[in-house]
Amino acid sequence: MFLRNHRIRSAALGAILAPLTLASTALAQRTELKPGWNLFSPQQDIQVGKQAAQGAEQQLVMCNDAKVDAYLAKLGMKLVAHLNTEGVKYPWEFHCVNDKAINAFALPGGFVFINRGVIEVADDEAQLAAVMAHELSHVALRHGTSQATKAQFAQVGIGLVGALLGGSNAGALLTELGSFTAGGVLLRYSRSAETQADVMGTQVLYDSGYDPRALAQFFEKLQADSRGKNPPEFFSDHPSPDHRVERVDEEIERLGGVPANAKKDSREFEEIKREVLALPVVKKGAELPGKGTFKRPEGPSKTFSDFQGTGYTMRYPENWTVHAGNDGAAIGPEGGFATDGSGTSALAYGMTVGVMKTSGDAKAGNALEDATKELIEGLQQGNPRMHVTREPGKVLLNNQAGLSTYLSNDSPMGGQETDWLITVLRPEGLVYFVCTAPQGEFSSYDKTFGAILDSVRFSK
Ligand SMILES: [Zn+2]
Repeated sequence: MFLRNHRIRSAALGAILAPLTLASTALAQRTELKPGWNLFSPQQDIQVGKQAAQGAEQQLVMCNDAKVDAYLAKLGMKLVAHLNTEGVKYPWEFHCVNDKAINAFALPGGFVFINRGVIEVADDEAQLAAVMAHELSHVALRHGTSQATKAQFAQVGIGLVGALLGGSNAGALLTELGSFTAGGVLLRYSRSAETQADVMGTQVLYDSGYDPRALAQFFEKLQADSRGKNPPEFFSDHPSPDHRVERVDEEIERLGGVPANAKKDSREFEEIKREVLALPVVKKGAELPGKGTFKRPEGPSKTFSDFQGTGYTMRYPENWTVHAGNDGAAIGPEGGFATDGSGTSALAYGMTVGVMKTSGDAKAGNALEDATKELIEGLQQGNPRMHVTREPGKVLLNNQAGLSTYLSNDSPMGGQETDWLITVLRPEGLVYFVCTAPQGEFSSYDKTFGAILDSVRFSK
C-alpha cells in the first residue's frame, strides 16, 4: 500500500495493454475477455488475497450469521460454475459484512465480501447475483494483481518486480501487498477494469440463468437513490465507466437478448433479506461509557500539511492537529482525543509517531524485529490489554525495509480499536508510526493512513 500515485501512468499502460477486444458489430458475438498483464502467478493471487482477507476480517465488523454466509456461498458457487478462470481453481470464500453502506469487494484469489447494505437494497436475487458476478469477474480477470503489477512497475521497473516475485524477496513484496486496505492497490480498479467486470459479469449472469439486465438495473437504482446525496461507496471502489448501462445492454444484445425464462427472484433471497434486515446494527459512532454519546470526528481533510519528525518528514490532513510530546507526537482530528478521569489524554483517531532509542546492535540481521518487539512490549506496559492480532510482516516505507504489525487495544471511546504499527530502523533509532481508529471505523481511515505513510521521506 505504500506504492501509489502512479494512477496516470497505470491508466496509460492499461489503455495499451487492456485485453478487451471489441469485435466489430457486423458479426456480434460475446466479448472475449482475458486477464491483463500480470507478473504475479495465480498462486500468488491466492497468497496475497488470503492474507488481505484475514486483515479485512479483523478490521471490518462481520455479520456473523451462518445462514446468510451459507446462502452467499451457495449463490456465489452457482455463479462461479459459469465463470471462466482460465482453469485456475480459486479457494472461493464469501463473507457478509455488517455494514449498511452499499458496497462489495473481492480480493485476489477469490475472497469476496458483501456488505449487508447490498442485500438490503437489492430488489431481487438477480440484482444481488449481478453484484456478485461483477466481483467474481474482478477475481477471474485478476484485476487486483494486474493493477499492482502496473503500480510496482511504475515504481521500481519491470526487471525488479520480476526478480522480487521470483526471488527470495517474494515474501516481502507479497506481504506488503497483502496488507488489507480498503483503498489499497489491490482494490483500486481502473474504469477499463470496471467495464470488463461489467461485461463478464453480464455473461456470467446470463449463463447462470439470471436476468442479465439486473446488473444495469442495480447501478441505475443506486444512481437514482443517491441523487442529491453522497454517492454509495460502491462507486468509489468501482468507479463508473462512461456509458456503463449502454455497454451492459450491448453485451446482452451480443448474447442474443434476455432469455424468456430468465430468473429474477427466489423465496430464499426474500427470506435472507429479512434475516439481514433484522441483524443488529453496528453503530459506527461508539458510545463513550458514562459520558453520553460520543460524536465522531469530522473526516480527514484531503489537503495535507507538512510535519517534521526526527530524521524524516511527512504530510498529514490539514484539519488534524499535532500534539507534540517528549519523544514524538500524536496527530489527530478535533474530537479524536479522549481524556479519562485522571486527565490523561489518549488518541482514539489518528497517528502517533516517534523514535525509540535502540539498545541492541543496529547492524544485526534481526535488529528491526528485535527493536519492534521491544517497542511493542513497551506499549503493552502502558496498555495492558493491547495484543498483537497480526504478526509483523515486511513492508517498504520510502524504500526502507520496515515491519507492519496489527494490534488490538481498548479504545478510549469504548469498544476495541485497531492499531496498525509500522516500524523502520534508522540511525536515530526505531522510527514508528501507529495508526489508530476504533475497530469498526478503521477501514474509513485506511486511505488516509496510507497516504500519510506514502508521504514519509527519510533524510539522506
Ligand atoms: Zn468493480
